[in-house]
Amino acid sequence: MDESIRPNIGIVGGGMVGLLAALAFEDAFSASCAIHVFDVAPLDLERPLSQPSFDDRSTALSFDTLGYMSGLGLLEISRQACPIQSIHVSNKGRMGSAVLTAEQVNWPQLGGVIENRLLGEALAGRLKHSRVRVHAPREIKHINPKSCGVELFDAQGEAMFLDCLIIADGGQSALAQRLGMLRESKSYANSALIANVATAMHHGHCAYERFSEQGPMAMLPLGSADGVNRCALVWTAPKNQIDELMALTDREFCRSLEAQFGYRLGRIEQVGTRSVYPLQMMHRIEQVRAGIVVLGNAAHTLHPVAGQGFNLSVRDIRSLTDVLSQCVHNNDFSSAALSSYAQRRAVDQWRTVNASDLLPDLFQYTGVVGAVRNFALGLMDVIPAFKQRFTAIAAGAIGEGDYV
Ligand SMILES: Cc1cc2nc3c(=O)[nH]c(=O)nc-3n(C[C@H](O)[C@H](O)[C@H](O)COP(=O)(O)OP(=O)(O)OC[C@H]3O[C@@H](n4cnc5c(N)ncnc54)[C@H](O)[C@@H]3O)c2cc1C
Repeated sequence: MDESIRPNIGIVGGGMVGLLAALAFEDAFSASCAIHVFDVAPLDLERPLSQPSFDDRSTALSFDTLGYMSGLGLLEISRQACPIQSIHVSNKGRMGSAVLTAEQVNWPQLGGVIENRLLGEALAGRLKHSRVRVHAPREIKHINPKSCGVELFDAQGEAMFLDCLIIADGGQSALAQRLGMLRESKSYANSALIANVATAMHHGHCAYERFSEQGPMAMLPLGSADGVNRCALVWTAPKNQIDELMALTDREFCRSLEAQFGYRLGRIEQVGTRSVYPLQMMHRIEQVRAGIVVLGNAAHTLHPVAGQGFNLSVRDIRSLTDVLSQCVHNNDFSSAALSSYAQRRAVDQWRTVNASDLLPDLFQYTGVVGAVRNFALGLMDVIPAFKQRFTAIAAGAIGEGDYV
């Protein structure tokens, strides 16, 4: 690695968050510093990316995220994402449902859904024409914080020196763990099954969030392919039930999905490859040290129910870019200089992590809590101010410093 250009910033982890952060930094201050990305997986920008981020999943991007990415020159993403015009929230077998629409908040759309593979292609396409230096496959094994900067060692024992290190190595984050950066975490009893499904009727650009005693389920609108109406399914349920769903034939699976989701989109006609993800909540209490910032799933891993994990990281990237611009300008990456990032992001992170954690449980309650929840859903459907506020949160328009 050429260490002659200083200051230099290195990002360990070339997943969705690491690559987007690299592009944001390049846009803001690459003229006065070098930006490096390291990933253990090969990262050939001419081929489909093979990191875990860019697998068969789809991601719901908020309106805010889409606008931010377009501003970074990632116009492909807005073009390819299937627009979300409304969100339908319902509760299986109980009264109370709500429909939130883009019209209520006077936006052209609430967000968009894109397949992670396409997201990866767009990021790679933009990186090809950037000054970001990509080092992959290259596994970072050890970090040695120095009085002014950070020393990294790769799997071959080669050392590199960085003025600032961004740790974006995913939910397990071996690197942040090795540094002993505090976190709180819990594993959920549920897992998530994801698959693309073909439905008889078009989704009408509506994202469905359906809650049941099993756990929440989302059916997100995808663009049609060869005239087939498609949705991205995220089905969460206890692990043993997910195992049973995985063992079903495609035909049996479609019937089970109809029983759970209902016939809002007519028959479920086909299902693609099914994959399972274990679910955990993790929030890293300590995200900043001298010359070090933790980002993405390494900083917070959320239940996917509200589709907020990546969107929250995008808001983090935005703030971190502002703070790092100052650090680059002053050539000061001390913990005092970086701590304003942690302060700016604390409220939004705390609120989003907790909301994503509470939501699945809230919909499992019966009795008084269940009655209040159903009442609230009903109210949300008739009181415009309440609904507008909820819609703005769901679409990611409320961030730093705003209190709900
Ligand atoms: C089922 C499901 C559905 C979701 N849906 C949504 C949604 O609709 N909307 C939303 O906003 N979010 C959603 N999310 C969350 C979103 O997927 C995550 O926020 C995002 O993938 C986090 O990306 P990341 O780059 O932080 O981590 P990762 O994707 O895990 O990337 C980490 C990278 O680090 C690399 N790495 C690890 N260790 C090292 C090392 N030592 N050296 C070098 N490289 C290393 C890995 O190879 C990898 O490429 C969903 C999550 C799940 C599980």
